[in-house]
Formats: sequence, C-alpha cells, structure tokens
Amino acid sequence: MSLCPVCEQGSLAGFRLVKTQRYLRCPVCEATVMDEPCRLSPDQERDIYQLHDNDPSDPGYRKFLSKLAGPLLERLPPGATGLDFGCGPGPALARMLEAEGMVVSLYDPYFYPSQTALSRTYDFITCTEVVEHLYEPAEVFRQLDQLLKPGGWLGVMTCFQTDDDRFDNWHYRRDPTHVVFYRESTLAILADKFGWSMAIPRKDVVLFRRGSQTGH
Ligand SMILES: [Zn+2]
Ligand SMILES: [Zn+2]
Repeated sequence: MSLCPVCEQGSLAGFRLVKTQRYLRCPVCEATVMDEPCRLSPDQERDIYQLHDNDPSDPGYRKFLSKLAGPLLERLPPGATGLDFGCGPGPALARMLEAEGMVVSLYDPYFYPSQTALSRTYDFITCTEVVEHLYEPAEVFRQLDQLLKPGGWLGVMTCFQTDDDRFDNWHYRRDPTHVVFYRESTLAILADKFGWSMAIPRKDVVLFRRGSQTGH
C-alpha cells in the first residue's frame, strides 16, 4: 500500500479499473490517483503537451482562463508580482495578468525550465490545468507554499472530481496525462495541511491564501 501523494496521510486503495488503467483512492482526502505502472513515459507526455494549443489570442481560451484571472485580480494590489507555474508553451494567462498591471514570471518544466523563477518569492502564483498532471502533488504544493510571500495567493484551476459513477467516462479522466484528481474535500485537506485559507470563487477554481505571519 502506498502513501497518498496528495495528503501524505492515507494509504491508497483500489478504486477503478478502466480498460487497462488502474486508479487508486485515498480514504483520507479522497484524491483519485492513477496507479504508477499506468503512467506514460516522459517522452509520450511531452509529445501530448506539445499538441496543446494554448493560443493567447484565442477568445475562448482567454474566457476559460478568466475564471481564475478574474477572482484573483479582485484580490491583488496593483503591480503585484506573480509566477505562472506550469504555464505551458504559450503563456496566455501571464499576458492577461500583465495587461492588468501585474508582473509575471514563468516556469514550466518542459517549456520554461529555468530555475531562476523558483529562487524568489511572490505575491501570487497561478497554476492552471497543472495539478492533475503531478506525480508528487504534496511536494509541489510544499514548494509553491515556500514561493509565496506571507499573505500570498495560490490560484489553482483543475476539474474537480465529483460523481464517482461518471468517473469512467469523464472527459478529464480520458486524458492519459491526468494522473491525479481532486475533490473539493481533497482541496480542503490540502489547505489544512499547509495552513492556508481557501475559497472556491468559480467552478473548478480554488484560491488558497498563505497565512500572513512570517516564517513557516
Ligand atoms: Zn490523501
Ligand atoms: Zn490537464
């Protein structure tokens, strides 16, 4: 039995077998995790990510990103500095936030791999359509926590997992690069784990906030 990579408290147990893909469930945080042997190779993943067409000028894509950008901008002071973590090949969200006066750095393990952006702290971090791809979510959330200034915001967008009966045919599950799915209760446990407050301003969008006291 392996430890849940999200809450690091529960032991993963069998949840579903969909064709050849096996999924496990954490009894503590209710995260659903693809069984390790079912994962794609890094090369296969990279090939799929390169097909993602995240065109910054596409109005449909901008509207999609505004689900996070809108609620986040309402909470940020003018000129706040941020990091778009896992921005992908076309940094559309960063461009949108910059147009509103924010200063945005980029990091993506495949497309913007420079570690420089990970060596300072930020007023906010955005993480859109990223967390469902992580093999070690808790490790990454821990890193993001440390990249936030006290009182800083972490805005995450991912499709929340809801109805187990629809899991097998869920479009989000069918993307073979999606290896972990979060329920609202999973996110609440993550918030607890790191001492963040949490708000869900829109469907599939969560805003975490680091405590305002300094130190960890
Ligand atoms: Zn868990
Ligand atoms: Zn995704």
